[in-house]
Amino acid sequence: MPVVARIAQFAAAMTVWRRDLHVHPETAFQETRTAEFVAGKLESFGLRAHRGLARTGVVASLEGRRPGGRAIALRADLDGLDIQERNEFAHCSRTAGKMHACGHDGHTATLLGAARYLAETRDFQGTVHFVFQPAEENEGGGRIMVDDGLFKSFPADAVYAMHNWPGLEAGTFAVREGPIMAAYDVFEIVVKGRGAHGAMPHQGVDPVVAASSLVQALQTIASRATNPLDAVVVSTTQIHGGDTWNVIPDQVALRGTTRAFKPELQDHIEAAIKRIARGVCAAHGATEEVRYERRYPPTINASEPTAAAVRAAVAVVGETHVVHNVEPSMGADDFAFMLRVKPGCYILLGNGPRDNGRALHSSRYDFNDAILPVGASYWARLVELELAEGA
Ligand SMILES: [Zn+2]
Ligand SMILES: [Zn+2]
Repeated sequence: MPVVARIAQFAAAMTVWRRDLHVHPETAFQETRTAEFVAGKLESFGLRAHRGLARTGVVASLEGRRPGGRAIALRADLDGLDIQERNEFAHCSRTAGKMHACGHDGHTATLLGAARYLAETRDFQGTVHFVFQPAEENEGGGRIMVDDGLFKSFPADAVYAMHNWPGLEAGTFAVREGPIMAAYDVFEIVVKGRGAHGAMPHQGVDPVVAASSLVQALQTIASRATNPLDAVVVSTTQIHGGDTWNVIPDQVALRGTTRAFKPELQDHIEAAIKRIARGVCAAHGATEEVRYERRYPPTINASEPTAAAVRAAVAVVGETHVVHNVEPSMGADDFAFMLRVKPGCYILLGNGPRDNGRALHSSRYDFNDAILPVGASYWARLVELELAEGA
């Protein structure tokens, strides 16, 4: 795979960093070892590491050789997941129940590689901020970085992120202008009936039957209540109720997640869930309590930064290895919070085949070390092209 020659020279070191991080996964806001690892590396490259933004975030800034110019921020994520790793290689997680199953170990090592190269060369005009954020998975560390003043302390004209992508050829980039990842919300519906003997259902109000109807009815939000040209997912992923064979319980809890690309559809889905829950429960004589929680907005790539990302990707791997209008994913990323306040671009980098559990969030996933120098070269070229003199 074509990469910047200087970066190729220390690709083996990047693999060592990546595997070290993989051995020691940490989850949301507990990334203290990871943050120290990152800060230590940045300092060894001669950069000043700012610790503690969003608790365990780390940021470092680098000025180019030539004064003035614009500033851009490059973001990586630090956290692992609550998954028991089922791999058997030497760099397997040594923390029970936690693993880097989304490749954030790779993202961190990639951005560190870029920081090392750029600190050596500084062949640009302006400022680059290396942003290592905690808690991408579920907890919205990206939002807290912004709320904690990320862009006040480190002003940037644009912000960029990269995510590895299993199922896309290793070393191929894929990107699109507009939404690339969906908005992510969660819901909980407690269906309240009245418990009874399992043999005498007429003496109670059965929340199990009401909840069963509700699971079906929620599917009509996507199929009947939304413009077919708008992608919407409503997935009920948990049903909790009952303790034994012959007792109808008092209540049943349903939980799930919703996805959409347009913020206004989040309002639409929330209203529809409440309406349908109310109607279906009423039809069964039950009542309901609905909690709908906004998690991440959609990840929306801006026009100019997307063009810049494409230029950088093409400069590294060539036109034939850049997919320009990739299909968006219904997955979500809290980089969306940064894109809500700054124009920017989220690009995908192929991690190779998805078979044999090599999918994101699989207990058999592993980041492909061969793409570390490709990713670092992309960051390097993005900075050199975007912060070229007079750009
Ligand atoms: Zn993930
Ligand atoms: Zn991820």
